[in-house]
Amino acid sequence: MVSSKDKRINKLKKKRIWPSVIGLLFIVLIFGVIVALLLAASIFDVTQRKLGYAANDSVKIAELFKDYSEENAASRQELVKTYLDINTDIEQVSLITKDGEQLWASGNEYPNLDFSYRFDFQKYEEFSDIRIVVEEDSNDMLEFEDGEVTLTTNILDSVNIMPLLIDDDFFAVLDDNVIVGFKIWYVIPVNDIQVLALNHIQIYATDLFMMIISLIVFAVILAFFVLYYIVSFISFLISMRRTSKILYTDMVTGGDNWLQFVKKATSKLKWNRRRRHKNNYAMVHLRIYKYRSFCTCFGVREGEGLIEQFYLNLKEKLSKKEAISHHENAEFGLLLTYTDEQELVARLESIQQGLNAILPSMKMHFGIGVYLIAQGEKDIDLLYNNALLACEMSGEENESRIAFFNVEMNKQKLWERKVEDDMDRALINHEFMVYLQPKISTGEERLAGAEALVRWIHPTEGFIPPNKFIPIFERNGFILKLDDYMLEEIARQQAEWIANGRNIVPISVNLSRAHFTREDLAEHICSIVDRYNVPHNVIELELTESAFFDDKKALLDTVSKLRNAGFIVSMDDFGAGYSSLNSLKELQLDVLKIDADFFRGSGSEERGMLIVSEVIGLAKKLNMKIVAEGIETREQVDFLAEQECDLIQGYFFAKPMPIHEFVEKY
Ligand code: C2E
Ligand code: CA
Ligand code: CA
Repeated sequence: MVSSKDKRINKLKKKRIWPSVIGLLFIVLIFGVIVALLLAASIFDVTQRKLGYAANDSVKIAELFKDYSEENAASRQELVKTYLDINTDIEQVSLITKDGEQLWASGNEYPNLDFSYRFDFQKYEEFSDIRIVVEEDSNDMLEFEDGEVTLTTNILDSVNIMPLLIDDDFFAVLDDNVIVGFKIWYVIPVNDIQVLALNHIQIYATDLFMMIISLIVFAVILAFFVLYYIVSFISFLISMRRTSKILYTDMVTGGDNWLQFVKKATSKLKWNRRRRHKNNYAMVHLRIYKYRSFCTCFGVREGEGLIEQFYLNLKEKLSKKEAISHHENAEFGLLLTYTDEQELVARLESIQQGLNAILPSMKMHFGIGVYLIAQGEKDIDLLYNNALLACEMSGEENESRIAFFNVEMNKQKLWERKVEDDMDRALINHEFMVYLQPKISTGEERLAGAEALVRWIHPTEGFIPPNKFIPIFERNGFILKLDDYMLEEIARQQAEWIANGRNIVPISVNLSRAHFTREDLAEHICSIVDRYNVPHNVIELELTESAFFDDKKALLDTVSKLRNAGFIVSMDDFGAGYSSLNSLKELQLDVLKIDADFFRGSGSEERGMLIVSEVIGLAKKLNMKIVAEGIETREQVDFLAEQECDLIQGYFFAKPMPIHEFVEKY
């Protein structure tokens, strides 16, 4: 199906050259025909006139022979000769009898009377008796057939006249040259004899002077038109080239843009199909992590310069069968050939190394998503999207990695889209439910606290556990709203319980690391809690160590403000992921939550327990309370009690539960 985007692009690409060429030819043709017609018409007109003059002159001479007799023969002949000296158009006069016998002639020509023809002198009625005999060899243009001359109009036929004009040097024509010349006999019957006058009809360029002047003017105008047309046509072609260059060039790298990439990649895959899939092709998405931070530090221009360098470096490593384009911001699309996955991974790794060598002083991280193209697949945007998805689904931006696309990723992406579509509505409709998981004291094993954990009761999907949406909210920022919502729910709940005179315990809420970009986070939290007038020490805030990676100073400031304001602040998931004892040194916290991971796994339990007891000892020395998470067995509870761990949170005592259930049980 052709999308409207494709239509728009095609419209831009369409080169409308033919109409221009045809238009130009048409103009030239029209002008040519007009010129030919004008020329023919004027030659015709001049010829007609000259034929008339010649007839006139011939009749005048014939009149001299009206009373011709033997006596006056000599004097008349002298008279004719004198006349011929004056009139240069008549070359010879002859007298012949009706039988064709020549009585006298002023020259040596003799007409071939078989070729006589009555000229149609409609205009010159007075000469209706005149016969014209055309000299066969006087003009090449005349055609004789079976003793009949088929000329009259043929003489004047533009088709016959034009070759004369073209044969001669055109400018010489202007210089008094004869354009049309032919000899004809006028045969005038006088009494018993016939007077023949051989007329040399010649049409000179000067006869057509006005005509030629107008032709020149005409030609100049035509030339102007044609020139104008050609110039605008050339400039049209130039602008077409420029448009298509703009259409296909990436402004940052100066190389192919995405449109061109799609075009090239499509034709390469097509070529490969025709060669029975000689090569394996992979679509690769490559992105530079923290490009924005780079631009913030060094400026956008530097950033774009870097993209250009990367582009050139990548392009150098491609073969002719492959293609590359800068896509967006710091992303590239590559169409690569490969022999097997191992070889492809090795190549991509070396590509990464090559890019890293461009800025040796800085360690850059790259995300690479790969989609192995199957036979017959050709929708480049879709293929690229799969590669991009593979990259996006594969994890955080903190290290380089190469991820291959799999079908699960597609499902996950669809789920993400659904979550994002529904989340705002869910917040308004209170679809997010607070569940509480008790924290039980070791020793007396009594309720000593609780953790608020969110559950999504979706109208169509039903119960959704947090691991299916929290990571998505962390990526898209919605987690900020959700955490605020949970905090407010807990503050409200505590206020209600206080008002009802219930014995309350501190309830903790989770605070995602995304909050710590906010400078006024402590004030913001106070403002939410203070709406319900609850003492701050019944609210505990759980934050994970990963918040440390972003802005250490901001974290330390906020934590100290929160503790000064009376909130209990705890470190969640200690021992999971990137924990380091170092963070305990700098961060002054109230509670340490030991991650459930310590109590899981097989074989290394003993070592795990050893570490737990050491961590507990350390935390005690730092004046922190200890909560152990994910406790599922009596043995674990007893062990923790022995180690003087303060609180226990886990399925052994209770799973997270809705508030009404929590109220019933505790
Ligand atoms: P977390 O903060 O570490 O929460 C503890 C998780 O451990 C909870 O999972 C809880 O149900 C589970 N758990 C407790 N005891 C046991 C046990 O004995 N065995 C096992 N297998 N699991 C146990 P849950 O509720 O699925 O929450 C998962 C994570 O989602 C939480 O880990 C927390 O990081 C996040 N989360 C939940 N609610 C919120 C929230 O409102 N805001 C934020 N930012 N994150 C939340
Ligand atoms: Ca927690
Ligand atoms: Ca935890």
